[in-house]
Amino acid sequence: MSHIIYPTTNLKATETMTMERGEGVYLYDNHGKRYIEGLAGLWCTSLGYGNQELIQAASDQMAKLSFSHMFGGKTHESAMQLSDKLSAMLPMDNAQIFFGNSGSDANDTHIKMLRYYFDAIGKPEKRKIIARERSYHGITVAAACLTGLDVNHKHFDLPIDALGILRTDAPHYLHGALAGESETQFVDRITNNLEQLILREGPETIAAFIAEPITGASGVIVPPEGYYEKVQAILNKYDIFFWADEVITGFGRTGNDFGSTTMDIKPDMMSLAKQLSSAYMPISAAAVRGDMYEAMIDQSAKAGVFGHGFTYSGHPVAAAVALKTLEIYERERLFEQAAVKGEYLQKRLQAYADHPLVGEVRGKGLIAAVELMADKAAKKPFADGRVGSYMLQACQNHGLIIRVVAGSAVAFCPPLIITEAQIDEMLEAFDKALADTMAWVTAEGLM
Ligand code: PMP
Repeated sequence: MSHIIYPTTNLKATETMTMERGEGVYLYDNHGKRYIEGLAGLWCTSLGYGNQELIQAASDQMAKLSFSHMFGGKTHESAMQLSDKLSAMLPMDNAQIFFGNSGSDANDTHIKMLRYYFDAIGKPEKRKIIARERSYHGITVAAACLTGLDVNHKHFDLPIDALGILRTDAPHYLHGALAGESETQFVDRITNNLEQLILREGPETIAAFIAEPITGASGVIVPPEGYYEKVQAILNKYDIFFWADEVITGFGRTGNDFGSTTMDIKPDMMSLAKQLSSAYMPISAAAVRGDMYEAMIDQSAKAGVFGHGFTYSGHPVAAAVALKTLEIYERERLFEQAAVKGEYLQKRLQAYADHPLVGEVRGKGLIAAVELMADKAAKKPFADGRVGSYMLQACQNHGLIIRVVAGSAVAFCPPLIITEAQIDEMLEAFDKALADTMAWVTAEGLM
């Protein structure tokens, strides 16, 4: 027995699974059973396991300078280089970066930077943030308020009203459209709802709109054509920032450098983590436009210390590993490759669209979901939570690690280094697991 309180786990669950080692896109448990990694850890291990260059980068940095904090302007080479590299990569004007340790803390940081910035420019009433239903932005107290999932609010007294989080529709046509509504009508309706919300609350009170370009943990929602164009126009009209949470979609995942590029978004702020270091070290980045940072400097000149920072902000080992990760992405042209392999994955998954258990196949690049449904025609998901658990277990039985999200959507997000042959291998296991689940669902009379 161990003394761990497991995160995001049914604490009553008695079974644990002990992972022992990893190699490339494969994981091995403590019985020596091999699994192919279908979810890149938690959407993060882009370069797979055992990458010698990353190990070396960490080891070299540990030997040279294992720790240095950044309070009071202390700095070091690896964090400076990483910030320059990111600033050059991000689809933002002269991005300035605040480093943290997780996607959640990057989002918390942004909530604070927004307030600091609007105080600086004399608009202290601009405080509210619009977040969407069916979104995931993390789990710390503030980030969980942005998250639009019940399970992360219930029993925690969240969201906290004082944070001023407003909620708008998820761009999920499958489960959000009214009967007979076309995709265009759906987009018109939900973007009109967004505009009405802004007008009701007063645009002068709203700081930002946060969105994952394509959602991850809430079900891999790919918005319909035209959605972001309309959202962006509304935000521009009312002087509200577009805050892109790219914790999953950043660094090649959607077949481009960033999800914002894929979805044609021009963000004012970005949250990055996970693939920033291929998860070899925890690190996050909260990026803002250069002119926002200029205003923050003015505010600090008046107010003194910018009172926010983590012990491990810009941790030298994490920064060195992230820098090497970005170098490998570039050298190996992994984003371009992700586009090609992503197309292959999406095409192969589409073949399951006609399966009686599959309600929808969706995705972009190397992120996808296959949603299982009790009634395809009526687009009715399974009410019985056991179906998702069964499917997950069946995948594991066949040597595939995936996650089931939003009830019964099987999420795929393999390491960017996966080959087409390995995609075939992944789907071979999925195929068998789907057949097992179909047999079980039928036997249980669940469809
Ligand atoms: N934002 C998004 C879009 C995420 O997917 C996640 C994690 N899955 C987070 C924020 C939070 O990141 P972390 O778990 O590192 O705190």
